[in-house]
Amino acid sequence: MEKPHFPGRKSSPNLSQKNIAILFRCFKNKFMVYDFCHLCNTYSKDFYTAGYFSRTVCPKCGSVGRFKLHGSYVRYIILFRDFKPSHEEIEVKRIMCKSCKTTHAVLPGDIIAYKLLSLFVFLSILISFHIKKIPVLKIAGESNFSFQFIYAMLNVYIIYINRIHQFFKETVPASAPLFPGALELLTLLKSYDPYTKFQYYYIKINNSPCFMCKFLNGGKPPPIGIISGHTPFKGRQHNL
Ligand SMILES: [Zn+2]
Repeated sequence: MEKPHFPGRKSSPNLSQKNIAILFRCFKNKFMVYDFCHLCNTYSKDFYTAGYFSRTVCPKCGSVGRFKLHGSYVRYIILFRDFKPSHEEIEVKRIMCKSCKTTHAVLPGDIIAYKLLSLFVFLSILISFHIKKIPVLKIAGESNFSFQFIYAMLNVYIIYINRIHQFFKETVPASAPLFPGALELLTLLKSYDPYTKFQYYYIKINNSPCFMCKFLNGGKPPPIGIISGHTPFKGRQHNL
């Protein structure tokens, strides 16, 4: 099992005002469709043509294949690049449904909506703490994150534990532990390979991505779609 490598920098991530502005700008794009053929570190807005969405269902109105390309926006993301967390900006493609005139962001399969961390970086923190038993301060020291940030991410996981347990009860009941704890469920989740497959089925069942907390305490998340008609989960990109 290859160990995720964190850069040795001791400083906390210093999100500039510009980067925070970029992150929050993406919050305006409330409607989303996930594309599980692409991951953050290979994603390009230039992949897309209108024909790519010929079988995609509009999560707002239910029309099929009625999309046209509609520009792009910049989003801030922390992803793995050469096994190291890397702070980057990606240009996210937008499409518009010609039936209901709603715009949708086209997201790679390992983005967590409204979160800075990609799914893989987020899970690597959880695995370091719960499975490898690395103390928070050490994870913080070896990564580019503050210990407060690590605690916040660990808390996000705790918030989702019951939902993840429910997911396994519904999809592979025999594997779901009777009394689930943080370690048991993460071990189960870790056996789900690749992780984007977990995210894919989680979205299908729950109509929202796992670990997305923005709407948990009030408000209803927008319906989130999945692009169909293409073969997802090509190869493994990360070995956490
Ligand atoms: Zn529509």
